[in-house]
Amino acid sequence: MVPHLVSEGTTSSFSFDNMLRVLLISHVPLPDSLVEYIEDVLNRIVPTEVDIAVMADLLEIAEEFLDPARGQVNAEKLLEYLRESTGPLDFLEKHVYVIDVDAYVPRLNFVFGIAEMCGNIAIVFTRRLRPEFWSGVIPQVIDRPPELLFLERLEKEILHELGHTLCLEHCSNRKCVMSFSNTILDVDAKEADYCRYCSEKIRAAITWRKF
Ligand SMILES: [Zn+2]
Ligand SMILES: [Zn+2]
Repeated sequence: MVPHLVSEGTTSSFSFDNMLRVLLISHVPLPDSLVEYIEDVLNRIVPTEVDIAVMADLLEIAEEFLDPARGQVNAEKLLEYLRESTGPLDFLEKHVYVIDVDAYVPRLNFVFGIAEMCGNIAIVFTRRLRPEFWSGVIPQVIDRPPELLFLERLEKEILHELGHTLCLEHCSNRKCVMSFSNTILDVDAKEADYCRYCSEKIRAAITWRKF
């Protein structure tokens, strides 16, 4: 937020000061196409800038929250740690961590991601987004190269968790990226985009947060 650039009595909903700034952070370099896609989708809703950062020790940090009996990372504890180590951010600044581990929350067998509702920090766990994770378990019905399928799933989960940081709850529209995914098949069935209703809610969240 740059308060001195806000002119008194401005009526513009989308002046420079409410540019959404998303930072995708991973322990591996993320592809440019992913950044461009996320930026394009969000830019149709609100002015958005997406950047990437590599955090070399992110995987080791995540593994500190590993439950050895389950072989999974405790998503809530990791989120809490990342929240505390990040420090205060403006509502329009979102940090999305992309980590190649399997994770859970105490009431669920696994999670694809976790986010602070109306907050700044989100995490996407990619282990179960990988087609090879499910080989022999769930029949592969999508005729797409595995790398492409993985990338599409990653786009969807990043947009989904970002949506929660923008105050969106789960959407009943099964095609909407904000619909809840119980299985990887649900992830594949939804589109990598927000429905009109969720798009409007993002605009409203950002507009309300201005005041
Ligand atoms: Zn969700
Ligand atoms: Zn929706």
